[in-house]
Amino acid sequence: MICNYELTAENYHDRMANDLFWSVSQFKEFDRCEAMGLASVRGLYRREETDALLIGSYVDAYFSGELGQFIEEHRDVMFSKRGGGLLAKFQRADDMIQAVTKQPLMMDYLAGEKQVIQTAELFGVPWKIKMDVYRPGERIVDLKCVKDFGDLWDDSFGGRRSWVEFWGYDIQGAVYQRVVEAVTGKKLPFYLVAVTKEKIPDVAVIQIPQHILDAAAGLVEAKIERFDLIKSGDVEPRRCEKCEYCRQTKKLVEPVVYEIEEAE
Ligand SMILES: [Zn+2]
Repeated sequence: MICNYELTAENYHDRMANDLFWSVSQFKEFDRCEAMGLASVRGLYRREETDALLIGSYVDAYFSGELGQFIEEHRDVMFSKRGGGLLAKFQRADDMIQAVTKQPLMMDYLAGEKQVIQTAELFGVPWKIKMDVYRPGERIVDLKCVKDFGDLWDDSFGGRRSWVEFWGYDIQGAVYQRVVEAVTGKKLPFYLVAVTKEKIPDVAVIQIPQHILDAAAGLVEAKIERFDLIKSGDVEPRRCEKCEYCRQTKKLVEPVVYEIEEAE
């Protein structure tokens, strides 16, 4: 399957582009809940833009050089009507930007081509990626704004996981690395430049090692065929009955019998 649709910064997030290509965020949504993933691709569901998400988007926009456009689009939500500065609840974003800017190592890893789009076929389906920072022949870097660097409980995993795996950044690295390799023939290391949303932001530059990227690629390979059949409408999605989308669209038919779950 070869896809000749030309992706640009303008159409990257379009319905058409999402139909034609798989993206890491689509895969992660399907992996969390197939019904939610499908609704999201079809434009029937969109995750709510919380204040925490907006703070991250602001920091992203600052370092990708898209701050002007971001401010234009979020003037009413994030900025004061009078002075035009960030509303108090969003000022953490400026602390985060400063925490990154004062680290020469982070600034070095954030230097390169910004928001670079590439497409390639992987695991039998077409993918699109948009890299935060691309240094051709050298490395791929993604900027992450997270709550903190603590582990998180993962229901589907049945245990605690590191924030890197909880948010699927290993999957992102695996797909980005393979798309770049398919396009250029070069296998590049994948790094996260990460800053936390804590009062005193924590910072890190992290390389995700190859064996973890390879394991994540294996997971994508094992699941993408079913997800693609769901996306094309050939297989019915399973509902998790727990996520926001499932709660919004839940229809109760009959009572369930209360059961105590046995610990394994
Ligand atoms: Zn669900």
